[in-house]
Amino acid sequence: MRHSLFALLILAATPAVAGDIEPRLTLPAGDRSVALTFDACSGAVDDRILDELIADRVPATIFVTSRWLKRNAAAVARLAANADLFQIENHGDQHVPAITDQPTVFGLRTAGTLAAVSSEVAGGAAAVTEAFGRAPAWYRDASARYSRDALTLIGTLGYRIAGYSLNADVGASLPAATVARRLAAAKSGDVVIAHINHPERPAGAGVAAGIKAMVARGVRFERLDAAFPQPTG
Ligand SMILES: [Zn+2]
Repeated sequence: MRHSLFALLILAATPAVAGDIEPRLTLPAGDRSVALTFDACSGAVDDRILDELIADRVPATIFVTSRWLKRNAAAVARLAANADLFQIENHGDQHVPAITDQPTVFGLRTAGTLAAVSSEVAGGAAAVTEAFGRAPAWYRDASARYSRDALTLIGTLGYRIAGYSLNADVGASLPAATVARRLAAAKSGDVVIAHINHPERPAGAGVAAGIKAMVARGVRFERLDAAFPQPTG
């Protein structure tokens, strides 16, 4: 009796997203680089990070939503002016998780249906294409988690799913020193995720410091399009 009650409590404490998938991504075997990926979900731009990337000519892949693009014209211009550094990809239209089997995840209301997933992907793609003149080829949804049907659909739409192997800032929630330490632990082949849309939080200072330290120790950085060339023909 005690045992079953305990088991029930454990079950109740398990995140509601247990059935969904959080894809892991590393660079292809033998690739000695590190891929930095940033999410621009909503809100503003973290110039501490953007300044550091541009100053040290560090290439990165940036996942933007349509709503972030609309509110950050100056940052969009800086990204476009440094097209040799920045690969811009699709983070959705309104930052809605591509999940159909749970009502919410991390406090975000999920898409709920495949039609809503499809419109979220299409809206993000249209905004990226309009702002940068190039259609995105990679997708990362708002939660970096997906229901299986959504994952299949997004694949059918021709996207590669941008998982990751090292979470540097846990949604820009960590103290700067912790973020810098997590970045310092990046190994060859890691795909790092962090956020570039929270200038008001300490995490971004740690991202900038962490990148500076990686540059100083000679880490080679690579964008996802260079690490995973599209098959030709
Ligand atoms: Zn996001």
